[in-house]
This record gives sequence, structure tokens and C-alpha cells, in this order.
Amino acid sequence: MPGPGEYLPDATEGITRVEDLPKPTIVRRSRDFAQRPCPGCGHSAYGYGRRERTLHDVGDLISGRPRDLHLSYSVHECSQCQRHFTADMSDLAPPRSHYTHRVIGLAVRLVVEDGLPYRAASWHLWRDHRVFVPFATIQNWVEAGGEKGRGTHRRRLSRLGTRRVLRLYRRR
Ligand SMILES: [Zn+2]
Repeated sequence: MPGPGEYLPDATEGITRVEDLPKPTIVRRSRDFAQRPCPGCGHSAYGYGRRERTLHDVGDLISGRPRDLHLSYSVHECSQCQRHFTADMSDLAPPRSHYTHRVIGLAVRLVVEDGLPYRAASWHLWRDHRVFVPFATIQNWVEAGGEKGRGTHRRRLSRLGTRRVLRLYRRR
């Protein structure tokens, strides 16, 4: 048994292909409802189908494996205004995101608060939280928070943007 503080290298250090990383633990989550209020007119709309998306969450440090949420959700159509919408999952992840809010919040804090470069933040997320996020994805998150609404102008994170990103993720 190694003593406390003894250096043990990460068993996955040096792995360069995502396929070689440990397989994720699957956790099932459901946002599957018979009826939901229409976001357009408030009418109670029946569900007519179900879909599934995968979200990468913070991993399991005991087993050392990543963790994926398999989220099934209902799709609804409003009979009053014909609007199609899905059950609300915004508590778990932003729309179209492959990662949970938890992961995005961690990543943004590593860069904005701790000042880690994107590549170092990516490695840190894998080593200490068992979630694989390409560094370019982290960069996109940080820049989206800092540069939103300013087109393709990508230089340094503005102070205003930094505060906005942090405010967003401190609430969680
Ligand atoms: Zn409606």
C-alpha cells in the first residue's frame, strides 16, 4: 500500500486515442412526460414520441471511469398553436450540448478562475474528474461566455464576459 502523498502516475497518462480510455458508466435519466405545458401558449400538450441524447457528466473517481447520462425525453405537439417542443432538460445541460452544466462549469472555472491554459484544463478534467473534453471545446465555452454577440472577434476574454460566465455557473 502506498503511503499518503506518494506519487503515483495516472494509469491513463500518455493515452492519445479517445477509444483507448476506460469505457463510461451509463446512468439513465428520464424527462419523459405524458403532457407538458406549451411554451408558446401554455396549453397542456400531449407527448407523441420519445427521443434520447447522451450527455457526458463528471466521472466516477472510485472506478476511474467516465460517466455518461442516457437521457430519454418526450416530444410534444400543442393542439392549439401547433408548436413542437421537447420536455425541459435545461437543468441538466444547455440545448444541443453533449456535456452537462456541471462539466461546463468546472471547465470554465479552471480557465477563468485558475488561469489554466486550455490544454492543461482538458488534462485536469480528465485526470481529476474523469471527463474527456477536447481543449478546443473548452475554448469555445469560454469564448462563448466572454465574446457572445460580438461576431467572430476572438481575442482575450473580456472582464464583463468573465463575470457573466462565472455568475452563470456559481448559481449551480
Ligand atoms: Zn401552444
